[in-house]
This record gives sequence, C-alpha cells and structure tokens, in this order.
Amino acid sequence: MRIGQALLGVPSNTVRTQGNLFCAELFLRHGGVGRPAVMTLFKSGLRGEQVVCWQRFWKRQLATSSRVPPRLFNSHLRREALKMTNRIPQDFDCFLVLDFEATCEQDKLIQPQEIIEFPVLKINSRSLEIESTFHEFIKPVHNPKLTDFCIRLTTISQAEVDNGKPFHTVMHLFDTWIKEEIGLDKNFLFVTCGDWDLKTMLPSQCQNENIQVPNYCKKWHNIKKSYSLMTGRYIKGMMPMIMGLKLQHIGQLHRGLDDCKNIANILRALADRGCKFQPTNYIE
Ligand code: AMP
Ligand code: MG
Repeated sequence: MRIGQALLGVPSNTVRTQGNLFCAELFLRHGGVGRPAVMTLFKSGLRGEQVVCWQRFWKRQLATSSRVPPRLFNSHLRREALKMTNRIPQDFDCFLVLDFEATCEQDKLIQPQEIIEFPVLKINSRSLEIESTFHEFIKPVHNPKLTDFCIRLTTISQAEVDNGKPFHTVMHLFDTWIKEEIGLDKNFLFVTCGDWDLKTMLPSQCQNENIQVPNYCKKWHNIKKSYSLMTGRYIKGMMPMIMGLKLQHIGQLHRGLDDCKNIANILRALADRGCKFQPTNYIE
C-alpha cells in the first residue's frame, strides 16, 4: 500500500496503540528514524493504519522535542520510545548470549566432557538486536569420535568437529573477539540458559587444559531465573520458555548457535515485559 492511500485510513484506538508500540519498537531496534527503520517498516507488510500511526508518532515526537536541546535529541526519542514499550533501560551495554555443546552419551557421563561448539551472540542492550557473532567448532581430544547419540542430539557432524580448532586456540580467538568486538572497558553480561555452561563446563575444561578462566567469564545471568521471576513458573529447559512466551522456536534444539538465537528471543521477550537483567551467579 502507498503512503498516499494509507493516509486515508483513520486508525481505531486499538490500531493506534498497536501502531505506536510497533513504531517505538522499530525505533529501539534501529536506534533512529533513518532509512533502515523505514525499510523494515515497509518490508514488514505494514497496513495503512499503521503507516498513519508511524507518521503521527514522529510528528508528535518532533513537535515535543523542539524544546529538547539537539545534543539530547536522540536520548529523548529513546526515552519516549522506551516509555511506550514496557522496556526499561538496562545496566549493561550489551549482553553476550552463550550456549556450549559438548561431547555426550545417552544415560552416561562422558569424562572429561569437552566443548564441541562455542557460540556467543553480542546483543545490544538497547535495541536487543544481534550485533556480532562468535562461533567456532572445537575438535575434542579425549573423545575425538562423537557418539551417534551426540550427533543425533546436537546435529553436529563428525566432519564439523574434525575441522574444528583446538580448545586453547578457540579460547584465544574468543579473548581477541571480546577485546576487539566488545572492549574490556564495556559493561557486558553473559546470558545463558542454566548455570552449566559457565559454572561447570568452562571451568572444568580450562582446568584440564591448564588455562585460566578469563575473569570476564566469571559472572552471568541465568535466563531461567528471570523467566521464573516474571511468570512465577519454575521451568527446566528452554522449550517451556519459548512456549510460555508464545515465541516461534527457530533452528535445531541443542545446536549451540540456534540455542543462542532462541535465548536471544527469550531475552527480548522478557525485556519487553519490563525485565532488567542482572548477574544471577558467579564463580570465584
Ligand atoms: P543444551 O545446551 O541443552 O543444548 O545442552 C548442552 C550439552 O548438554 C549438550 O551438548 C550435551 O553434551 C549435554 N546434553 C544435553 N541434553 C542431553 C541429554 N538428554 N543427554 C545427555 N547429554 C545431554
Ligand atoms: Mg545448547
């Protein structure tokens, strides 16, 4: 639909509210009113009334913000947009969603268990969009041949781990990524689904391979805690959260990078309901 046609529509109250929320979220996602936001608006198959809401939203913002000094203009718009969603400002610059996959066997503990997939997503804490991805497969040393169970569970192939890098190399690459892509001066928080990744898996493999656990990996937020707090329901895995929040599950369950993308969607959905993410656990 063309904007000209759309302007003929008169939005109802419900459409207006939804339209304003949609526009506010769009602004937060793109951090502004520039071309990327407008392109998303049209790609999303926006209906006529929503275009009217979009235009009214910005007209109103521009009118009220004429009293705002230019250097505060962007933060003023962000505050306005935040007010229209239930999102509250977060204490961290970005969230690092992390989800390891490791060697495993059905009904049996493989010792020592080794990380085979190491994915991390950098999520902007304001837009809650993915800004950067770290992703490596790791070649296991103690159990180089994956069990059929592990291949079925994770969909990670033998070839993917055979072509993977040694653990210490991946730790080095990750450290470089953290320093260059995030910056040690930045305030970031790891987000995981459960405590296993950073409380158990990383410290035990670091100990086995004589590597220091980086200090920045010593605290994290377990997203199951926020979910329980928000809904009053205790859950075990990721799928109950996906269903409880009425989200679409994407990709393959137990594949690290896909799990990270789903955790990121849960993070966004909880943030939209007013959740503020803080560390929930740490190691010494
Ligand atoms: P997840 O983050 O839930 O995908 O699981 C991380 C790791 O936990 C997997 O890569 C496996 O090593 C192990 N794991 C998860 N579910 C099972 C299971 N049902 N049986 C054995 N190991 C599992
Ligand atoms: Mg996983």
